[in-house]
Order: sequence, then structure tokens, then C-alpha cells
Amino acid sequence: MNRSVFRNLSYGVYVISTLDGPRHTGCVANSAMQITSSPASIAISINHDNYTNSCIEKSGRFAVSILSESTDPGIIGTFGFQSGKDADKFTDVSYQVKEELAVLNDCCGYIVCKVTGKLETSTHTIFLGEAIDGDTVGNGPAMTYAYYHNVVKGKSPKNAPTYIPEEEVASSRRSEKWVCGVCRYEYDGDIPFEELPDTYVCPVCRQPKSRFVKE
Ligand code: FE
Repeated sequence: MNRSVFRNLSYGVYVISTLDGPRHTGCVANSAMQITSSPASIAISINHDNYTNSCIEKSGRFAVSILSESTDPGIIGTFGFQSGKDADKFTDVSYQVKEELAVLNDCCGYIVCKVTGKLETSTHTIFLGEAIDGDTVGNGPAMTYAYYHNVVKGKSPKNAPTYIPEEEVASSRRSEKWVCGVCRYEYDGDIPFEELPDTYVCPVCRQPKSRFVKE
């Protein structure tokens, strides 16, 4: 099977937030879809290994912040490439609280849901949620997953449904490459990586130059 065909499905990029007791937490997801319009319901898919999964299970609620093409890619680094178990992801992020859940200000819209059902797969839980609030926020267009890959040059976190192991990705890349050790962003600028200033940071997850590894 040619797994790259799955890249031809359309996806967005979302921050899914929920409550960990009194604390806000969340993660990045690219699978969210509307199921019905009345009552307005959506489904999301969250890996079992994501801390957010068990928190949605306990709180019975989740919010979807819909990222736009102008959203700071550092948000994807903050929410997609570290665990909410170890980090307070909302500490340095601008957000507002809707129905007790945190939704991002740097996005093009949010939907808050109460969980009405779920389906387990071997790796992911599909949560079905009925919308209890939602609004547009900043300007679109919404960021598609293809835009994230092709323009932001971001990769999939390991827990994403769309994650494809690096060795399976057909590539015509140069033999030597510099890759962010945190988010796997591959540097492709015109200046040789070694000549970049020490102040260079990963454009996706904001980690310093020292976290890049040569492969
Ligand atoms: Fe990075």
C-alpha cells in the first residue's frame, strides 16, 4: 500500500484543549470533522498515548481551536511536541476561557463540546462531541495539513493519525540534512546550517539551533 495517498485527504490543524482537574491542557490534532448540524456535533481522533485523551475522558469536555495560516507555528511546537503531563502548555499562550475551557486567541475559530460518545480503535479514541459554544476569532483561511507540511515545513508528531515513519516518506533530499531534534523540522534554507547565527531557532517549535542534529 502506498501510504502517501492519505496525504490527499483534506485535514486541518487544530489545538484540542480540555481540563486536567483545574488546569488547562491540550494537544495538536489534525482529525476533526462535523458529523451532524442539528444538534451540531463533531468528532475528533486522539491517540491513546496523548495525555489529553485521559483528560477528555475524565472531564467529558473538549474544545477545538481551529488554526489559521497566520497562526504562529510555535503554537504547534508548544502543543504538539511535548506532553501536557510534564508541561503547562498554556503558560505562554494567549487564550480566553469559554465554557471553562481554554481556546486560543491566535486561531480563526473555536468550538466547545461536551462528549456524547466515543469509539476505541487500536491506537486512537474517536470522541463525539455536541457543540455547546463556538465562534469565529481571527482571520482565516484555516490552516490545512498540506499547508503545514508544504509551507510551514512541519512534520507530524508521532501520535498523529497521519504520522508516517521517516523511512517510508519517498525523498529526493540531499544526503546530509539538519533536523530539529524536537519536532523533526528539516532545515532547508539557502545558508548552510553551520553558518546560521547561534540565535537561530526552529521555526516550528522554537527550540534553539543546538537542538538540531545532522542526519
Ligand atoms: Fe522544532
